[in-house]
Amino acid sequence: MYDLIWSRFVASQMTPGIDELATIEIISEDARYLFRFSEGRQIFPGFRAVFPTGEAKKGYIPAFFEGDQVQLQQFLPEQKFTQPPPRFTEASLIRIMEESGIGRPATYVPTIGTLDKRSYIERKGRQLKPTQLGKLVDDILQKHFPDIVDIQFTAGLEETLDEVARGKTEWKHMLRDFYTPFEGVLKSASENIEDMSHITRVPIGRDCPLCSNPLQKKLGKNGYFIGCSNFVGGCRYTESIPVGICPLCKGKVVSKSSKKGKGRKFYGCENYASTGCEFIMMDPPSETPCPKCRSIMSQKVRKTGITVTCQNPDCKFVVEQSTGPE
Ligand SMILES: [Zn+2]
Ligand SMILES: [Zn+2]
Ligand SMILES: [Zn+2]
Repeated sequence: MYDLIWSRFVASQMTPGIDELATIEIISEDARYLFRFSEGRQIFPGFRAVFPTGEAKKGYIPAFFEGDQVQLQQFLPEQKFTQPPPRFTEASLIRIMEESGIGRPATYVPTIGTLDKRSYIERKGRQLKPTQLGKLVDDILQKHFPDIVDIQFTAGLEETLDEVARGKTEWKHMLRDFYTPFEGVLKSASENIEDMSHITRVPIGRDCPLCSNPLQKKLGKNGYFIGCSNFVGGCRYTESIPVGICPLCKGKVVSKSSKKGKGRKFYGCENYASTGCEFIMMDPPSETPCPKCRSIMSQKVRKTGITVTCQNPDCKFVVEQSTGPE
């Protein structure tokens, strides 16, 4: 530790290092292909003498002059693949929101929370993956509200809101400028948006215990739940969708959101209200139950991968998964 502090301090007082870097560009005779080659070398180490940066350039500068002709000696066809950028994580999504000027520090986390709560995204380790519903909602927004989902437009709007906060813009004008065109878009969208009920209301093959109408898997403000298809007719029967089996009482574990913690999601036993079973879990459940005792397992994301742990205190079975790129 002392070494780290000492070398950093001394380095901060030293002169910069100097590197020499040459870039050579070779253009084919027909001017269709450009080949670029860079090489550098260290001329003077500077602060790097005490604080190695791990990138000391030991190359040599080839002796080329502008206009030199080069002779093609060999031609090797090779196939290389460019990796697509990885999926967003919570951190990289917040970074891109910051860079694009959409959202403000106070809204970054709640925005991602909303995507979660409405089942627009699901998590795979640290990665955020759009759900089928998320993609569908995005398609509809792109089609009917192109301005609202445009990053530039949103960033501009947030900028104007900041001006309102600083007292530089009058809020009534700002709101009128925004709302007047938006009202028209909203009206035309409400007339033209496709019916999404095949996604948001799916029959589950079981009837309502109260009124015998078919039950459906429905999408509400807080994600999916099971409800009666006769909602319009007045039946309010609902059930939560179980995510696993309670290790304490073999009841169903369902997703809940805390009233205090800004709707933070957690998982608890459905029998809490009836028998007082106090099983709760903060980490998200794994897709499959424990292979040993069938109890619910939790997923914890670590730097090196995902640790899946059985929540049964008598079992504690653990699976380590390393996270690949996808
Ligand atoms: Zn019913
Ligand atoms: Zn229980
Ligand atoms: Zn187990």
